[in-house]
Amino acid sequence: MNLSTAFFEKAFGTFEQLTVSDLPEFCFSGRSNVGKSSLINKLTNRKSLARVSGKPGKTVTINFYRADDIRIVDLPGYGYAKVPFAERTRWSDLMEGYFKSGRNIKCVFALIDMRHPATDFDISMLDFMQQMDIPYHIVLTKCDKLNKTERKKREEAFLTEIPCFDQITSVWTSTTTFEGISDLKEIFEELSSEDYEFEEEKFEE
Ligand code: GDP
Repeated sequence: MNLSTAFFEKAFGTFEQLTVSDLPEFCFSGRSNVGKSSLINKLTNRKSLARVSGKPGKTVTINFYRADDIRIVDLPGYGYAKVPFAERTRWSDLMEGYFKSGRNIKCVFALIDMRHPATDFDISMLDFMQQMDIPYHIVLTKCDKLNKTERKKREEAFLTEIPCFDQITSVWTSTTTFEGISDLKEIFEELSSEDYEFEEEKFEE
């Protein structure tokens, strides 16, 4: 699978508009400004497939990108205090609608800014996926901004901030040093090949 073939397909503002899930989906979630757009751009080897913004809170749609036989799903950022109540309600309806509509969700990459303690929103998001039995990995972003000692400290802190942190796969990433990018690509490869193997097995029966 070649993520560089990715192109923007469609943005959805309400879950009623969502089209049928006919391909495996790989989602990216996280609070606004966590580095989600930068990471999608880096993985797909593009400068501006997903928008990169210094100003948080802009993405209020679910954006779909198609790459070969999978979809990358850019979920709207959360936790931006200045978003009006109506927008926050729309956000939660959209997210709940998306996750409860029986889609082929291979994995959610739950992005957390490595420099700061996980927020209540981060914990709620992880909790939600746990409850819904959605496979997920934690992605600790902007790790280039910490030195070795600071990293160690944050990693230890996550053990107390995030329930069961040591039992969840976590990948440290940086879009400036490329750290963790190949690890994420491997996860894409591994999980998307599961479907091919399944199809092949069905064919052989
Ligand atoms: P989004 O709101 O989650 O999509 O975040 P963006 O991708 O727009 O990034 C928000 C800001 O963080 C931008 O100024 C990016 O340049 C910066 N940023 C994103 N990822 C990294 C990273 O890995 N390292 C550093 N140093 N900055 C980053």
